[in-house]
Amino acid sequence: MNEIHLEEKELARLAKKASEVDSLLLSAFGDAPSLKSENLALELIAAVLSQNTSRANYEHAFERLVERFGNAKTIANAPLTEIEKAIRPGGLSKKKSKTIKEILAAIFEKSGDYSLEFLREMGVSEARKFLTSLPGVGPKTASVVLMFGDGRGVLPVDTHVLRTSTRIGLVPEGTSAEMAEPLLEQLVPPKARPRMHLNLVRLGREICHARNPKHGACPVKSTCDFFRHQVHGSVLAI
Ligand code: SF4
Repeated sequence: MNEIHLEEKELARLAKKASEVDSLLLSAFGDAPSLKSENLALELIAAVLSQNTSRANYEHAFERLVERFGNAKTIANAPLTEIEKAIRPGGLSKKKSKTIKEILAAIFEKSGDYSLEFLREMGVSEARKFLTSLPGVGPKTASVVLMFGDGRGVLPVDTHVLRTSTRIGLVPEGTSAEMAEPLLEQLVPPKARPRMHLNLVRLGREICHARNPKHGACPVKSTCDFFRHQVHGSVLAI
């Protein structure tokens, strides 16, 4: 994973800003719930299904898959067409069914089982390394599985986290999601990372839209670079 190297003084400034953003979002949106699922292999399948579709669609597809097959082993041994049929409401079902089969086959090949429970005993970087060695699993998917499935102190960067953290000024303009993740993890302590992820996603979904962000309703406008530089003082403000 590529990393952004910043001077110590700049890192300290950004960590202070991140802490301020965390406090403001905590007051506005609240804390993260306790995150842990019972089955990490199914969590990974859910993460694959969530790619490039709406939450409602992937949740529906995942429910149908689990209802039809029950567990990861049965999914792994099911015909591709049956998996595709079950996950159709989630979109891209041809591609995703193939990825799911390939992932489960790779897990079995590497561990002799269709389970990922052994990841709970590993450190974060070892678990990430294992997950990203699976076909079609990138750094964001790996972090999503570790955070939602095992409550680990990681900070997955999706489109909302990237947009909001860039506008606020926590990551430099033009930074990719892959590069933003290790930077944000340097700025936010492990315990606060799941909360920061969830609250930045909510900020992006409800207030800091890609077009026409609602600055007036934003709980972090007092510390937002975009607001200060481009909006504050302008006749077009809020
Ligand atoms: S002040 Fe505006 S640009 Fe900044 S985070 Fe809030 S909504 Fe987004």
